[in-house]
Amino acid sequence: MQIQELIPLAPRTTMRIGGNARYYAELQTQRDVEEAAQFAREKSLPVIALGAGSNTIFADGIIEALVVRVVANSIEVSGNTVRVEAGASLATVVTHLAKRGLDLSPLTGIPGTVGGAIFGNAGQGPRGTWLDHFVQTVTVFLEGEWKTLSREECGFGYRESIFKKLKNPLLWKATLSVPSRAAREIEQDIGALLKKRSVAQPFTRTAGSCFKALPDGTPAWKVIDTAGLKGYRVGDLQVSDKHANFLINTGNGTFADAAHLITEIREKTGTPLELEMRFVEESGSLLP
Ligand SMILES: Cc1cc2nc3c(=O)[nH]c(=O)nc-3n(C[C@H](O)[C@H](O)[C@H](O)COP(=O)(O)OP(=O)(O)OC[C@H]3O[C@@H](n4cnc5c(N)ncnc54)[C@H](O)[C@@H]3O)c2cc1C
Repeated sequence: MQIQELIPLAPRTTMRIGGNARYYAELQTQRDVEEAAQFAREKSLPVIALGAGSNTIFADGIIEALVVRVVANSIEVSGNTVRVEAGASLATVVTHLAKRGLDLSPLTGIPGTVGGAIFGNAGQGPRGTWLDHFVQTVTVFLEGEWKTLSREECGFGYRESIFKKLKNPLLWKATLSVPSRAAREIEQDIGALLKKRSVAQPFTRTAGSCFKALPDGTPAWKVIDTAGLKGYRVGDLQVSDKHANFLINTGNGTFADAAHLITEIREKTGTPLELEMRFVEESGSLLP
């Protein structure tokens, strides 16, 4: 494993926003994870896990942390049991399993890695299917130790998991239980879901839904749309015309623009919308 200094983070996020990581490393083995944790401890820096950056942006300066990316991405199938490493792309897992008659199609069209999906329990909206539906166990490196947690211990909820509350957890792999169905039917569903998304969502520099649905299930896009904010801009950051809960970087958008825009959206809607996206500040902490 190589630990690099001052590595640009913007190209590692789908929104293309962020400054540099003080330190950055790609983790291929469990030994790499242990060494990275040791390095960060010696430097008294937090470890920040990054997947595909499809739900994350970083502050514009230097992020005082060791930013790590799990690149281990194997997928092992045995009957209906699937063992998948955190660096695997979720879309690749969905299509790979479909060919083998295993149905993970409700998770179609969600960019990012398995690690990111476990962390935020990615899935459909507040009443849809989420990743936790398929999870049996999750293996995580936590405070210097390897642990395998059962689904119940992961504390999953709508875009929630216990990992959001723990200090620097590093998700390594998951065991999933995936139901069987005819490959052709699964592939048809995947095609239909991708088509639906292409109509409803922008495909540009975005990080997906910025805010969670309200506790009563009202989608955040509805709240933002009702306030007339589609197309609203701060600098090069814009509320998408196509989907009011997607923020778009239309050019050289910055973290400061994005932070300003979310403040304005909360003020103008009069609603304390909770962030789904991760806004990582220079200190490594998150915007509330
Ligand atoms: C066009 C578009 C559509 C989207 N649609 C959906 C949708 O329908 N449903 C949905 O749920 N999301 C959606 N998203 C958001 C995003 O795809 C998900 O949140 C995804 O699961 C993030 O995965 P990632 O690997 O990119 O995570 P990142 O953005 O890299 O990270 C997200 C969080 O997970 C943590 N993390 C990532 N990997 C690890 C790891 N190995 N160990 C510990 N922590 C880790 C990071 O620290 C960070 O806090 C969409 C995004 C886009 C751009």
